[in-house]
Amino acid sequence: MSTFFKNLVTYVKNLINGDEYISDRTKLSYTITAISIIHVLIAVFFALNNNILLTLYNVGSFFLYQGTMELVKKKKYIATTIITCVEIIVFVLVTSFCIGTIMRFNLYCLAVVPGIFYIASTIKDFKGRTLFPFLFSICSMLTFVTSLLFELIHEPLYVFEPSVITQLVEIFNVIVVYVMMIIFSLLFTWEMKNNSAALEKRNQQLQQFANRDPLTKLPNRRSMMQVLNVSMHELQRDNAPFSVILGDIDDFKKVNDNYGHDAGDKVLVMVANTITSQLRDCDSVCRWGGEEILIIIKGDLEAAKNIAERIRLNISSSKVEHGGQQIRVTMTFGVAQAKAGDRIEHLIQQADNRLYYGKGHGKNQVVDQNV
Ligand code: GH3
Ligand code: MG
Ligand code: MG
Repeated sequence: MSTFFKNLVTYVKNLINGDEYISDRTKLSYTITAISIIHVLIAVFFALNNNILLTLYNVGSFFLYQGTMELVKKKKYIATTIITCVEIIVFVLVTSFCIGTIMRFNLYCLAVVPGIFYIASTIKDFKGRTLFPFLFSICSMLTFVTSLLFELIHEPLYVFEPSVITQLVEIFNVIVVYVMMIIFSLLFTWEMKNNSAALEKRNQQLQQFANRDPLTKLPNRRSMMQVLNVSMHELQRDNAPFSVILGDIDDFKKVNDNYGHDAGDKVLVMVANTITSQLRDCDSVCRWGGEEILIIIKGDLEAAKNIAERIRLNISSSKVEHGGQQIRVTMTFGVAQAKAGDRIEHLIQQADNRLYYGKGHGKNQVVDQNV
């Protein structure tokens, strides 16, 4: 028993946190089960009062819902919903015709409104059609009005004298209808909230996906441009220095040619990880182009040069295992410090020129001056 309650508490907690999801089948089978139980209770009440017709109607409804359960199993959710709504409307009409509005059995058609809106908006088969719940809500209203009109135009077939019992049944009906309306409204609100939270999460994932290079998991050029703009702004406003390091793997084409493209990919991942491990939290790195890496260092030229040198040594001493072979690569770096008022394109060009110089003068080196 305690396990049952523990499971129940976990389930409710998960529901609230949006980790649990109520399937379409669960929604409809629980609704139908609840309505079946109510019909059984009402059938018992009418049986005790020797009202054969309404007893039979409610017993018949109970069996109708057992049959409807089979439709739920076959995933015929629209048919199930229509049968349920029609049955409730017929129930209200029959009951009001037979005994009038005493005990307020006509209130049950009110619960149709939040119920049908909840079901039609959250069950996929309905594809969010609002005409369907709208029409049934109008039917529900007309049914309620008709139940009141019956009283004006004809005497009930069976007269129930007001008593403590009829009063208690009325209270029971009011409570059941309110509970149903509250549950449907809560579920509706909860599901809408969960849906927008899930959408928000998905948006964040997409955003990350759009800003990252799938191979190295480094930010891509586009997201780095934002960091460069912010850094330039901070340089002008707070005089906070920053420098860029543009690195390019030496003779990378040979790696691809000699060991294959997959080996080249592995090398790129190793280079990305090695560089990331050498940086402080305040620095940033991105995959600038094919095998070009751009690093932003919060510091002056000297600091950036030291970091570039450290990275260069780390990369030249690292190796990648591929197909039983060990692949080693080196990198050449061009370093430049940003000046206030400088254009970003100019800053990158300066680093690129220094990198180009390094490429032409032996590679595997850090160049931090115009030569
Ligand atoms: P250098 O030392 O002058 O930089 O010579 P390099 O061979 O590295 O330069 P080049 O620009 O001629 O070649 C770069 C190669 O990088 C060509 C391209 O196929 C390869 N490359 C670019 N992106 C990727 C990638 O994602 N994976 C792999 N495996 N190779 C890539
Ligand atoms: Mg290269
Ligand atoms: Mg290149």
